[in-house]
Amino acid sequence: MNDIKSTNQLKVAIIGAGIAGLATSIRMACRGYEVDIYEGNAFPGGKLSEIRLGDYRFDAGPSLFTMPSYVEALFELAQVPIEEYFKYERLDIVCNYFWEDGTQISAYADPTMLAAELHHKLKVDPEVVNRILTDSQRKYDICGEIFLEKSLHKLSTWLQPKILRAMVLIPTLDLFKSMHKVNSRITDNPKLIQLLNRYATYNGSNPYKAPGLLTIIPHFEYNIGAFVPHGGMHQITQSLFELAKMKGVRFHFNTNVQRINLEDDCARGISINEKILSYDKVVSNMDVYSTYKKLLPHENHPERTLAQERSTSAVIFYWGIKQEFDSLDVHNILFSENYQEEFKTLELKSIYHDPTVYINISKKYVAEDAPSGCENWFVMVNSPHRAGQNWDKLIAETRNNIIAKINRILKVDIESLIVVESLLDPRTIESRTSSHLGALYGSSSNDKMAAFMRHANFSSKIKDLYFCGGSVHPGGGIPLCLLSAKIVDEIMHE
Ligand code: FAD
Repeated sequence: MNDIKSTNQLKVAIIGAGIAGLATSIRMACRGYEVDIYEGNAFPGGKLSEIRLGDYRFDAGPSLFTMPSYVEALFELAQVPIEEYFKYERLDIVCNYFWEDGTQISAYADPTMLAAELHHKLKVDPEVVNRILTDSQRKYDICGEIFLEKSLHKLSTWLQPKILRAMVLIPTLDLFKSMHKVNSRITDNPKLIQLLNRYATYNGSNPYKAPGLLTIIPHFEYNIGAFVPHGGMHQITQSLFELAKMKGVRFHFNTNVQRINLEDDCARGISINEKILSYDKVVSNMDVYSTYKKLLPHENHPERTLAQERSTSAVIFYWGIKQEFDSLDVHNILFSENYQEEFKTLELKSIYHDPTVYINISKKYVAEDAPSGCENWFVMVNSPHRAGQNWDKLIAETRNNIIAKINRILKVDIESLIVVESLLDPRTIESRTSSHLGALYGSSSNDKMAAFMRHANFSSKIKDLYFCGGSVHPGGGIPLCLLSAKIVDEIMHE
């Protein structure tokens, strides 16, 4: 039937309006297809949504925005001027770091200023910054495009000339050493090592286990930049939602897909409330684990792929704070005294008593996000994914530990300044987005082969079934989710 249908008559169903689902819908609509997105929630964005508490607005999930060019690419493809829908700017200070001994570092985006700050505060040789950023860029140049922008499960990728060069240079990519070891090789300053190790958490990994190749991450934050969208992170979702609608994508909210229907091992549509809807292609933006277990319960599942260790999760407190803090910026980290113990505790599926606390304040760049004289604090600590913990107890203890840490480092009584509060934890992350066990980034990147073990962006057994989003190749985080949409588009048309 498909063979006689011209491609621009194709009907595509996308399950989930997370950031990757939105991006895929735009790419499919730009091909001239009829596109329907089915979303269980009443709103688009999945993890990249927002919440409002009284006069305070919070970005619910992601707060760090890198690689805006991947958002721009979608507007370019759709031939819609981005300036009318989405604006952003680069941060001068990427993050403020605090330690218990009173050390405070502003991580400037400008490498010369960063080197001067690290020299002044930590007595680090300015040449070290240059070495870190050059090495990070070198690794990205060798393998970034191949590992992140292409399907690793298609022969065409492995036949590219660049692959040969990457293969030859694999021994220089630190794939077989831990990230901690690589960072310790570049500097012996424990605070700088801790700062660099933190990048493992950008995809929910453990720096003492994850491969040294993850030292590629600072390249994105410093060489390319950390950015803030005008109006907050949620504007990424909103602008892509508007763009998708403009291109004719039809949205069906409050609509949970119950089954993917097959005919002769081909995806031929979906079922919603027992109603069968026919499509030529189905793209799942639902976590790949949940897609197989819930939507394809009677098929053979790629069990080994699905059984991979999940990434870490997070516990987040959204606090309206009736005071402004000059010492804080958009991104702030209050470091644990013992980072290694913190990760050991996470491995034991608990939260360390002295956790590293991340405070994001979008009010620093979106004035309307909190009343005058107040701030909207997104306070997050790394947590394990769901594994039978007593979450109410663990969260209550963690809240006390976070408050004690903030009080010690910022010399305040923060509890007395909290005027509104809400909570997100692994249980609610799972129930709101179907992320298996509440993991933030799908499977973890702790294994050196993790990049190759993530599920492909297509099914090798079921024709016309594709996957996008943080649980499949190339991984979690907004930039990689946007790339997963690009890969789906490419492999669908190979
Ligand atoms: P998701 O956001 O997981 O959305 C999937 C969607 O599918 C959901 O809307 C869900 O309702 C829908 N769905 C599921 N099942 C069905 C069904 N059966 N029928 C219909 N709809 C369904 N990334 C960064 O880049 N920077 C950060 O700073 C950052 N911080 C983060 C902080 C937190 C607290 C969290 C939770 C995540 C963070 N991330 C960050 C990760 C980033 O948010 C995710 O990788 C990304 O948003 C995942 O997008 P996705 O497209 O995979 O879909």
